[in-house]
Amino acid sequence: MATLEAPVRPRVSLHSGPFVTEPFFDFRNEDNARKMRATIAKVRGQLGREYDLIIGGKRVKTAEKIKSLNPAKPSEIVGIHQKAGKEQVEPAMKAALAAFESWRSTTVEERASLLFRVGDLLRQRKMEFMAWMVFEVSKNWAEADADVSETLDFCEFYAREALRLAKTQLPIQLPGERDTLTYIPLGVGAVIPPWNFPCAIMAGMTLASIVSGNTVILKPSSDSPTIAAKFIELLEEAGMPEGVVNFCPGAGASFGDAIVAHPKTRYIAFTGSREVGLRINQVAANQAPGQIWIKRTILEMGGKDAIVVDADADVDSAVEGVAQAAFGFQGQKCSACSRAIVDERIYDKFLEQLKARVEKIQIGDPTENANLAAVINESSMKTILQYIEQGKKDGRILTGGERAPGEGYFIQPTVIADIPPKSKLEQEEIFGPVLVVIKARGFDHALEIANDTEFGLTGAVYTSSRDKAERAIRDFHVGNLYINRKCTGAMVGAHPFGGFNMSGTDSKSGGPDYLYLFTQAKAVGEKIG
Ligand code: NAD
Repeated sequence: MATLEAPVRPRVSLHSGPFVTEPFFDFRNEDNARKMRATIAKVRGQLGREYDLIIGGKRVKTAEKIKSLNPAKPSEIVGIHQKAGKEQVEPAMKAALAAFESWRSTTVEERASLLFRVGDLLRQRKMEFMAWMVFEVSKNWAEADADVSETLDFCEFYAREALRLAKTQLPIQLPGERDTLTYIPLGVGAVIPPWNFPCAIMAGMTLASIVSGNTVILKPSSDSPTIAAKFIELLEEAGMPEGVVNFCPGAGASFGDAIVAHPKTRYIAFTGSREVGLRINQVAANQAPGQIWIKRTILEMGGKDAIVVDADADVDSAVEGVAQAAFGFQGQKCSACSRAIVDERIYDKFLEQLKARVEKIQIGDPTENANLAAVINESSMKTILQYIEQGKKDGRILTGGERAPGEGYFIQPTVIADIPPKSKLEQEEIFGPVLVVIKARGFDHALEIANDTEFGLTGAVYTSSRDKAERAIRDFHVGNLYINRKCTGAMVGAHPFGGFNMSGTDSKSGGPDYLYLFTQAKAVGEKIG
C-alpha cells in the first residue's frame, strides 16, 4: 500500500557507492507513528491464517500443526503452520539437490540481483514486516525496526560481497601457466535460526547461502515461523527459482536433527543456544552411510555478556548503556548485557542511578510501543522466574523480581545486586530481563571476572582512561567489544558479529569473510603456450 511505505532513504543511488546501513524510523514524528499504528491494524486483520510448507515450490500440508502465539496475548494465534517431520526430510533434500544442479551454475550477478530485488521489495513493506514481529515475538517498534533494517542490510551487503568475492584477485602466476582461484558453492545447507532475530538472522543465513550458489532447507524456530513465511513470499515474488529455499517449519529435535544428520547435507548454518549448537556439532561430525564430505558447521551460540564500569567512567552514560543493553527486547538478545561489573568505588552511586533508570521502563503491549513487552513463551518465562528466585538467595533484588500483570508473559525488569563471581546467575545465560551486578576491586579484577565464563560474545567497557581502554582491547576476550557504548546494536559492515569460546565457531556475520564460510575455494593451474 502506497500510504504505508518505508522512510525516504538518504542514499544517493542504490546498490552502488559505499555501503550505508538502513535508516531507522523516528517515531517521535507523528506521521511515522500514525503509519505504524495503521500497519499494525492491517496486520492484525491477517492474524491466524494458515501457511504451508514449500518444498520444490510446491505447497505441502501435514497432519500436525504448529501454532504461533502472540507472547503478549497468548490467546491470539499469529499463524498456523504445517509441521515438517521425518517424512518431509527426503522430499526437501531431493528438491534442494535438484535445484542445486541449476542454481550453482547461475552467474553471481543473477544471484546478487535476486538479493537486491528482495531488499527493494522488503523496503517497501518495512512496516508490515515490523508489525508481524510485534505480534509474533513481542518486539516493540524500535526493536522491530532494527530487525528489519538489519535484514535489509544483509540483502545489500551479501549481494555486494558475493560480487566482490567473484572478482578475487588472481593468485601468483607461475611462468607458462594461467593460475586461478575461485569460490564455488558447497551444496545443500540446513539453515536453522532462533526466534529472537526472527527476520534478520533467519534471512541473513539464508541469503548468504543462496547468493553463494547453495540451496537451502530452512527450518525456522517454532516460535517465529510466520515472519519466515512472509520472507519466503518475498523471495518468491523476487523471482527465486523453485527449490532454492525449501521452507520447512518443524520441531528441532525431530526434523532439525534429521536434516543435520542427512548424508547429503553439506553444511549447517545455525544460530541458537549453546546446548543445541553443541548437539549439532556432534551429530554433524558423524559420517552417515553414503556421506562423502566433512560437514561444515557455522554455529553462532549464546553469551553471558558483561559491561565493565570503571571507577573513572562517566556514570550517567554507563547507567544508560547498561539499562538499554540489559532490557532492550526484554534482554532476549545474545548480545544483551546480563552482567554489570562495577568498580567498588562507584558501586553504590551506580546502583542508585541504575535503579531510578530501570524503574522508568514501562511494561506493556508492544502494539502500543511499550518499552518492555513479553518474553517469548511460557516455558521461557518459568525458567527466567526460577533464575530470579535463585538470585534472591545469592544476591539482593534492587528492583523488579516478579512477574508483571497481564495475560502475556510479562516479567518486571529485574536487577540483582551483590551477585558473587562464579555463582549460577553470574555464569549461565538467562535470556530474559534480568541483570546481575557484581562488585569488582578494581579494573584488573573487573576484567578477570568479565573473562571468567565459558562464553565470549560481546562486552563493553566504560572508562575515561585511554590506558584501560587499550588494556580491554587487548585482554577482554570477546568477539565484539565496545568502548564507552552499550554492548548491543551491532551494525552490519561496521561490527561484523560473532563470538569466541562457547559463543560459537568464531564466524562473523555481516563481515568481509562471512561468505567464505558458504563457499569452497577451487584452484586451477592451466598450462599455456
Ligand atoms: P535454540 O537453540 O533453542 O533453537 C535454535 C534453533 O534450533 C530453533 O530453530 C530450534 O528449533 C532448533 N533446534 C532445536 N533442537 C535442535 C536439534 N536437536 N537439531 C537441530 N535443530 C534444533 O535457541 P533459541 O531459543 O531459538 O534462541 C536463543 C538462543 O540463541 C540464545 O542462546 C542466544 O544467545 C542464541 N543466539 C545467538 C546469536 C549469535 O549470533 N551468537 C544470535 C541470536 C541468538
